[in-house]
Amino acid sequence: MMRKIADIPVEKINPSIEKVLKGQGIPDQVKANKRTIDLARKALSSFMVLARPSAVTMEITGDQFKPIYAGEGLNADDTPLDDIIERADSFALFAVTIGETICAEIGRLFESGDYAQGAMLDSTASEGTELLANQVEQSHREYLLKKNRLASSHSTCQFSPGYCGWHVSAQKKLFQTLRPEEIGISLNDSFLMEPLKSISGAIIVGEREIFVFEDDFEFCVECRTRSCRDRIRAVKEK
Ligand code: SF4
Repeated sequence: MMRKIADIPVEKINPSIEKVLKGQGIPDQVKANKRTIDLARKALSSFMVLARPSAVTMEITGDQFKPIYAGEGLNADDTPLDDIIERADSFALFAVTIGETICAEIGRLFESGDYAQGAMLDSTASEGTELLANQVEQSHREYLLKKNRLASSHSTCQFSPGYCGWHVSAQKKLFQTLRPEEIGISLNDSFLMEPLKSISGAIIVGEREIFVFEDDFEFCVECRTRSCRDRIRAVKEK
């Protein structure tokens, strides 16, 4: 089992100002006012100074992944992963964090009443954490390519406990196997991660077509992001 820990240069996960503004609910086409742009610029500078991106990844077999996916037996009856797991080629667990320092600064800004700067740094940090998870997925693809283990018809897709029918309690077994505590991520009693700006999950490898599914599962009714549509689009382009 290959397990790898890496500190990632913050320059590699630098969010764009457009994405930060989008995270604040300001659509691309609307020109933000000067005050908002100044808040976003300041948040981006703080991000560069305070973020400490770190990642752990670990390749596991399908037989090892299945009990982690099953978790505490609380997954939805029918999920996109049920089918994907059966058709996938390989699996890697991952966890990433941008560290506690930036999370503490977000908390401090809110506590001091600077809600505008706090909210801007919060969405900058969220965007940076997503970019970090994408960076780790890309590194895994590059590793597979180097080993001649990624055919041109194949790609990768990320899934996380707490989303798309995969119950958040599966974090327990994921953590027992991956041990992200080593990069400073811990799990609380509600299976939420600390630092808050962390992402854990599985990078699944397989033919591109196995990642294409409809967004009509029972739990999709409550989904506000519909992020699977973006992920499916991205799989086709990777
Ligand atoms: S609509 Fe939402 S809940 Fe449903 S599969 Fe897509 S991302 Fe998951």
